[in-house]
Amino acid sequence: MTSKKSIKAFKEAKKYFPGGVNSPVRAFKSVGGGPVYFSRGKGQYIYDIDGNRYLDFIGAWGPAVLGHAYKAAVDAVKKAAAKGLCAGLNTVSELRLAVEIKKLLPWINMMRFVNSGTEAVMTAIRLSRAYTGRDVIIKMSGCYHGHLDSMLVSAGSGALTFGVPDSPGITKAAGRDTIVIPYNDIDALEDVFAVSGNKIAALILEPVAGNMGVVPGNGAFIRKAGSLCKKYNSVLIFDEIMAGFRAYARTGKEYYGVEPGLVCLGKIIGGGLPVGAVAGKKEIMSMLAPSGPVYQAGTFSGNPVVMEAGAATLKAYIRQDTFKKINKLGLVLDDLLANAPGVHYARSGGMFTLFFTNVKVTDLKTAKTSDTSAFAKFHRFMMSNNILLPPSQFEACFISSAHEERQMEFFGRKCLEYINK
Ligand SMILES: *Cc1c(COP(=O)(O)O)cnc(C)c1O
Repeated sequence: MTSKKSIKAFKEAKKYFPGGVNSPVRAFKSVGGGPVYFSRGKGQYIYDIDGNRYLDFIGAWGPAVLGHAYKAAVDAVKKAAAKGLCAGLNTVSELRLAVEIKKLLPWINMMRFVNSGTEAVMTAIRLSRAYTGRDVIIKMSGCYHGHLDSMLVSAGSGALTFGVPDSPGITKAAGRDTIVIPYNDIDALEDVFAVSGNKIAALILEPVAGNMGVVPGNGAFIRKAGSLCKKYNSVLIFDEIMAGFRAYARTGKEYYGVEPGLVCLGKIIGGGLPVGAVAGKKEIMSMLAPSGPVYQAGTFSGNPVVMEAGAATLKAYIRQDTFKKINKLGLVLDDLLANAPGVHYARSGGMFTLFFTNVKVTDLKTAKTSDTSAFAKFHRFMMSNNILLPPSQFEACFISSAHEERQMEFFGRKCLEYINK
């Protein structure tokens, strides 16, 4: 496996970009070894600029549920792009994506498209505060909700990998209105509502957490979050930007039987192009400008090329029963890894993590018992076998519908080979 061109490009990139990257985890800092320079992707494979081919489990960090360069999505993009890259006006492409989302989530009344998951969460929080007239937001440690100030408190994802749960540059005031409790902790949930219930604008969580590695939400915990929000008239926000259409066929609403007031979507719904959406109950959503007083806007929001890519992707996702396929591929891994010694293997649908710990991982504290240097070695071992994993213990691995059962088996056996070494 050569990586001369990738190493050279990274050296050059360091002159232009802080740390050589435009998003921290791409630096491969926590696992060592050079970063991979993407040349192209096709199906379950990505190719680097040195010509190496990898079996890919990064899945573009979520969007590539149908595999890379999925033909119907690429064709939709080409067709839309030829008509103009940006409209700045309404397009029927927005309607096409909205219709696909409504097919999957008939319980949402209204939605607004934005350009990233971060924006979706930012808007959901503003809406919740306006709707309730309250300030406090409850979040779970280890859940990641984008890089907005109020959510970068005990967050997961890159923030976790780099051990900077609280970023400098965020005012004390921004952090003061965010209360952090442990994930899956019913007692903490009851306590925080007992003390601050009538000040809580919203409780936000990932129903299946994917940004401290995969940590499924406990059903009783999610239901308790739902009933407490109802009791105290706080808005329950499900952040489905990663888990939606990935950890389960639809969202936590269907999976746990708990209906949130607002849901944040992203990643998959743009088919690989930048997108986010906030959606939910009409009485909350209609507070958004111009139908209501809560301001939110975006030059690129509802961009027709993005909307067409997303619509084509969700259409195929529904038509091909993609969730069933990725879940079945996951079962192949379960057979090999569920009882593997010295590790905690977690899978929800098409997302999985192999934690290097003997402890059962249920929250951030237990996730952090993982031996990250063992993970780093594991990552390099997989790279040397042309298998590409997210370069962090705390990022989820993704299965796409382009993967094949024999490849899942090959990967599972390589995991066992490493574990038993
Ligand atoms: C990726 C992610 C976000 C942020 O989305 P961006 O598009 O990167 O801004 C928010 N929440 C969750 C759960 C995510 O996985």
